[in-house]
Amino acid sequence: MVRDEQYGELGKRFEQYLLDGIPALRKAGYNPFEFLRMIKTTGGVHTAKRLLASAGDTSYGFTKLWEKQKLDTSVEFAVCLPWFRELFTEAEVGRAEFRLTEHRFDLSRIDAVPVPAWCAAPTPEPTPEPPAAPTYRQRVEAEEAAQLARPATSTALTTEAVRSAVFRSLVLERAGGRCENPGCGHPDFHVIGRNDMPVVEVDHVHGLGEGGPDHPANMVVLCPNCHAVKTRGRDAEVAELRKLLAGIARQRHEAAMTGA
Ligand SMILES: [Zn+2]
Repeated sequence: MVRDEQYGELGKRFEQYLLDGIPALRKAGYNPFEFLRMIKTTGGVHTAKRLLASAGDTSYGFTKLWEKQKLDTSVEFAVCLPWFRELFTEAEVGRAEFRLTEHRFDLSRIDAVPVPAWCAAPTPEPTPEPPAAPTYRQRVEAEEAAQLARPATSTALTTEAVRSAVFRSLVLERAGGRCENPGCGHPDFHVIGRNDMPVVEVDHVHGLGEGGPDHPANMVVLCPNCHAVKTRGRDAEVAELRKLLAGIARQRHEAAMTGA
């Protein structure tokens, strides 16, 4: 006898589906012993194909099920389930659908059958974590590399022009937009100005004009008051402040580089 080996795992699942439906048929008052015998001898898929190919428009069993309003337990119904369709030809599925609709069966009930776990769509790949925002260190290193890669002509421009916007914003972020002078008389000064940027100065402790580098390790954020003192204060005070701020700039930069 020809069994369903060539239909593999799916064939076995289809047969099991038919067998699982038999208690419901019996409960409905139809004992499908011939159907069961066919399944046992030729396999579930072959049984379905034979029933679909039978000369009569419908099998005895189909008529019985129709009478009992149990067409959703018919072989025709099983053949139409999307996850079993590949076992059958288009003509076979078409024939099954035709028999069902001919008996006023609502085919949308097929779509209402829950997809069995074994053919549920594979769980989608977990969406990858969005790439982490670059760290202070990564941004500093990227900007240093970019500066090295820049054509030499830019060094001929004025110092104003070569100030790095990246370093400026890194230093602003590092300071939280607040004055970094530990002796600041207005530590709470935090006014937001144009472009939603804090009204503060990003100061080069050792000025670019005197050879100080345009680098976060030489940059601090100062409130307008402290900045004015550093720029126009008395020499002794300025020297003291510069020394203090040089240490602050270095410390803050190193701490940010290590992520501390
Ligand atoms: Zn200040």
